[in-house]
Formats: sequence, C-alpha cells, structure tokens
Amino acid sequence: MNAKGAHASRCGAGTWRRTVLSFLLAVVVCALAVCSVPARAASADQWQAGVATAVITPDQPMWMAGYAARTKPAEGKVHDLHAKALVLQDAQGNRLAIVTADLLGIDRTMRDWIANQVERRYRLAPKDLLINASHTHSGPVIRESAYSIYGHSFYNLTPEQLVQSDAYSDRLQEKIAAVVGEAIEKMAPAKLSYTHARAGFAMNRRRPTARGVINSPHADGPVDHDVPVLRIDDAEGKPRAIVFGYACHATTLSFYDYCGDYPGFAKEYVEQRFPGVTALFIAGCGADQNPYPRTADRALDLCREHGHALANAVEAALQGVPKPVSGPLRTALEDVTLDLAEPPGKETLEQQAKSDNKYEKLHAEFLLAQLEHEGRIPATYTYPVQVVRFGDDLLMVALAGEVVVDYSLRLKRELTGPPLWVAGYSNDVFGYVPSARIVHEGGYEGGGAMLYTPLPGPFQPSVEEVVVAKVHELVQQVKTEQ
Ligand SMILES: [Zn+2]
Repeated sequence: MNAKGAHASRCGAGTWRRTVLSFLLAVVVCALAVCSVPARAASADQWQAGVATAVITPDQPMWMAGYAARTKPAEGKVHDLHAKALVLQDAQGNRLAIVTADLLGIDRTMRDWIANQVERRYRLAPKDLLINASHTHSGPVIRESAYSIYGHSFYNLTPEQLVQSDAYSDRLQEKIAAVVGEAIEKMAPAKLSYTHARAGFAMNRRRPTARGVINSPHADGPVDHDVPVLRIDDAEGKPRAIVFGYACHATTLSFYDYCGDYPGFAKEYVEQRFPGVTALFIAGCGADQNPYPRTADRALDLCREHGHALANAVEAALQGVPKPVSGPLRTALEDVTLDLAEPPGKETLEQQAKSDNKYEKLHAEFLLAQLEHEGRIPATYTYPVQVVRFGDDLLMVALAGEVVVDYSLRLKRELTGPPLWVAGYSNDVFGYVPSARIVHEGGYEGGGAMLYTPLPGPFQPSVEEVVVAKVHELVQQVKTEQ
C-alpha cells in the first residue's frame, strides 16, 4: 500500500496505462508476498495427526491416590477421568505419541509395559512415546508395583483392595496402549502451531519459617505461570486438538469423588469453547506449587474457577497469532543415575519401625524387608529424561517425577532457542525431584516426602546438575541428529 501510494503521487496525472501497470505490478508483488507465507505453511501441511480418547474412570469404588489420610474408597464421580493420545507424524515419517492421563502418576513399570506394547503393535519406538499424568489427587490408586513387592502397601490397602488395584491397572495399561493405536488409525493431514499465555493461580507452597520450610502459600517463592499451547488443525484450518500445560499441583480437591481436578475442568472448558476439539493437559514442574485459594469447604467451586482460569489462558493464547510449527521431529530418551543419600542402617530402621508415626513405621518396615530380601537398600535411582524437538519452532523437555519449579525456570534461562516447554510427571512418577537449593533447604519436597515412596531417603544435592546436564546432552543430540 505504501509503495503503491508513493508511486501514484510521483506519477501525478500520468497516463492511465502507467497507473494500471503499476497496479498490476503491485498485485504481482502482493501475490508473491502472500505465496511466501504458505511456503512455510505448506511444510506444516506435511504433518499427519490423530487424536483419541479413552474413559479410564474405575467402574468400582476404589481407593483414591494422593492423600495418605483418606479413610475410605471413592463414593462417586464429578466427571469421567480420561487417557488421551495425540500422535504426530512429520513429512519424513518420524512420529511422536503424547499420552496424557487423569491420574496421580504412571510409574516406570507401567510406562515400560505400554512402550513395549506400542512398539510391538504400532512400531513406535519407546523414545517417541511421552506419557504425562495430570497428578490429580482424585483418581484411583494404581498398581503399587515397587512398594507392594514385599507385601507392603503404602496406602495400607487390604489384600482385596490390592487385587482390585492390580486388576484396574491391567485394564488401564491395555486401554492406554489401545488408545495410541486408535489415534494412529485416525491420522490425517494437519497443521501445527504454538503459542502461550499466563495463568496466575499457582503459588509457591514452600514458606520458610523459624522451624524450617512449611507447606503454606509463599508469595515470594518462585513460580512458572507460563501456559504453553500446541494447536493441531486439520488441513482446512479447523482445530482438532489443543495441548496445553501448567506447572501446579492438581490438589484443589480432597474428597471422595473421582475428578480430574482443575486440569479436568480446564480440558472440559477448552472443549466447550472449541467444539470438536480434543483437549490434552500436560503437567509441568509444579511439585512445589499449589492452586490457591484452596479451602476445603468450597473446594469444588474453586476447582472449577481454577479450571476456568486455565481455559481462559488457553483461549487468550489462541487469540494471538500462533506461530506455525514445522518439522522435522527429533526425539531422545535416556536414563540417568541419580544418587540418594546414604541409606539408614538396620538399627536405625528397627527403631523407626517402632515409631508412632504410621508412615515412618511403614517405610522402615518396607526398607527392612528390602534389606532382608535383597541384602541391600538401593543408593541410586534410574531416572528417564526425554527431549522432543519440532524443527526450529518448539522444544519439549519431559522430566520424570514430581519436579520442582526451579528446573523449568533454569532450563528456560539456559536453553535459548526455540520456545521451550518443560513437562514434569512424565514417563515415571515415583516421588519428588528437588533442586539443589531445595535439598539444602529440606522440608517436604526436599526429602521429607520420601517417606511416602519406596526410596530410602533424599536425593543428593547433585540431582539438579545431573538432570540438567542430561537435558543439555539430549538437546544437542536432537539438534545434530539427522
Ligand atoms: Zn504431588
């Protein structure tokens, strides 16, 4: 427009032919400019995407996961729990399956079973499978594989409840493997785009006091309010799937009904606002973040409000101009060994086994049984780290366990390149993953919470450097890999 206007003024009352010629030239220039935009979109058109959903709500009143203090099984449901699969394939045929589930977590044993089945049935390599749990505290207890091996149960389940939990877990892992296959069957040409916004209800929950760090809102503590959004459109530009993330515990609720907590509501609201869309939620590094306000009496109302806040952020992000995401897809998944603090000796454990604190007692009894059966208590943990690169447009890092916010903040500082999406609760949920700072500070996430896991004690402060170094190594790998 500007160029054309300048040209016309220079022409003054020049001939109509010159005006028409300049107009035609401008049209050609505009057409070329327009063509150069679809050149990039054309490569995005090479994507194939498929999405599928499975209902995983237990059909029986099962024991619920997340709070040790619950005294009875579930009594009903607010809405269904889901496992969802999104399968993406780039122009070269590289694939990625993202599975999200309304569960407290999926451990390594179940992830490996699913990865094995998915590889055997659909030829999708384990490194191309990302499994993330929303960490809702209103879902069922799934197989307590590691914890129940010596006949112990962290939740103190009866033998009948353990059988029920195992049977549910068998059906669950089969449903998850099948839902990946269903998504593959539904693959069709797609366009991908990325954007993000912010939501503010996550608040740091580690408040320093004279008696140490306590679980309480801490306005000055670190937070990551980013809401990353990946939009998958069909070839005509109609949205088919929206993946979004947030770094905050799904702990608004603590009652006896199955519910996806705020992520479950956020997915519902996104699907209502974008009819025909399947919404998937990826939990971020929210281990030391809680949704606030958080009160017992209005819990469900607050949960819906947090869900609305997150869905609003997703909608706001999409009202901007999402950036097209091109391939190629590159994935890497490797284990790293994390060192644990020196395990307690037998005498110490025997003392702890007499404790009035039933969790300290249970934990000590478990470790004593482990010592007896295996002759030793493990001093390390094998921890999976996954990186997914979408060309030069998006990088995803998926970390296992309950990862504190320091990791996403540090990685966002250090990895300057494509937009970075950091997920926690991925591929193995087993306990907390503190930063060096939090190991030194102590408190629940620093090591206290290990009492509720099969691990003997806190991680060494080296945990942060070891995990971050592996992330950097895999980021280099997906950069240079052809
Ligand atoms: Zn948690």
